[in-house]
Amino acid sequence: MKIHEILNQGTTYSFEFFPPKDDGMEEVLARTLRTLEPLSPSYVSVTYGAGGSTRERTHELVVTIDRDTTMTAMAHLTCAGHSRSELAEIVERYGEHGIENILALGGDPPQDLGLPPGELPHAIDLVRLVREVGDFSVGVAVHPEPHPKSPSVDADRARAAEKLAEADFAITQFFFDARHYFDLVDSLRRLGVDKPVVAGIMPATRLSSIERMSAMQGSEFPQWLREKLEAVGDDPKAVRAVGVDEATKLCRTLLDGGAPGLHFYTLNRSTATREIYQALGLTSAR
Ligand SMILES: Cc1cc2nc3c(=O)[nH]c(=O)nc-3n(C[C@H](O)[C@H](O)[C@H](O)COP(=O)(O)OP(=O)(O)OC[C@H]3O[C@@H](n4cnc5c(N)ncnc54)[C@H](O)[C@@H]3O)c2cc1C
Repeated sequence: MKIHEILNQGTTYSFEFFPPKDDGMEEVLARTLRTLEPLSPSYVSVTYGAGGSTRERTHELVVTIDRDTTMTAMAHLTCAGHSRSELAEIVERYGEHGIENILALGGDPPQDLGLPPGELPHAIDLVRLVREVGDFSVGVAVHPEPHPKSPSVDADRARAAEKLAEADFAITQFFFDARHYFDLVDSLRRLGVDKPVVAGIMPATRLSSIERMSAMQGSEFPQWLREKLEAVGDDPKAVRAVGVDEATKLCRTLLDGGAPGLHFYTLNRSTATREIYQALGLTSAR
């Protein structure tokens, strides 16, 4: 089913995974998928490594989930490191395997791989290419805080509005303060775009990794959250409990404020997502 149609039916709850790099990680992901499938997510998505080594695994994982489970799968795809014709082939292949949903991204290839720059300069160009290739539901990424390479908030909002106007829906980068999400949505509405903006949720369950990821993608990691996590820093279970509790509060604020969906960055684990589900009183997303 197409994700914009699923969004039309009501609030969505979706999960993001990445392709495993080795057998151990593959087993972890298989367990996670078995554990999360009974929650009946509205859809799930699989990231794409612009760097190369896991590109084929994204395809395999998306097709396998879509074919062998009850879950609808969306493929992430990036402009970075690809020619236009390569991208068209990848999208065509998804179409041949019955995949109807693509998240069209700029991508961040690792610097050390020496990859050529992608032929398509921006995600909006990939949205257009996917539309040319076939009848897909196309999502894009948006950045509440905004994207770290943007010259200004206004410039990033204007680019996001142009891109979302041509796509079907957006998923945000993660953030810890709901105001960033509502500011972004207000800006997009003022710019005349009213497509669904699904909120990306990353529970802060490990202090070191969440700080690193926040710095990498330009999300503010708030001092109040750092202090709460540090106060229980020597007890991993207590840290996770604080992270889950704060993520649950954020989810409630977002849903109360009208967010059309929540997209959980699972990092291929199930516990935090299950705990947030339970705390929100959800047994199944559908
Ligand atoms: C939900 C989500 C999923 C993601 N999944 C992946 C993944 O699977 N693989 C991966 O490698 N990365 C992924 N990313 C990260 C993403 O690729 C990076 O944040 C990347 O740096 C920007 O991607 P974008 O799609 O927003 O790019 P773009 O829309 O191309 O924007 C990138 C920058 O260019 C600017 N810009 C856009 N259009 C124009 C224009 N016409 N002229 C001038 N400037 C412009 C924007 O303001 C921004 O600063 C994901 C991010 C999110 C939020």
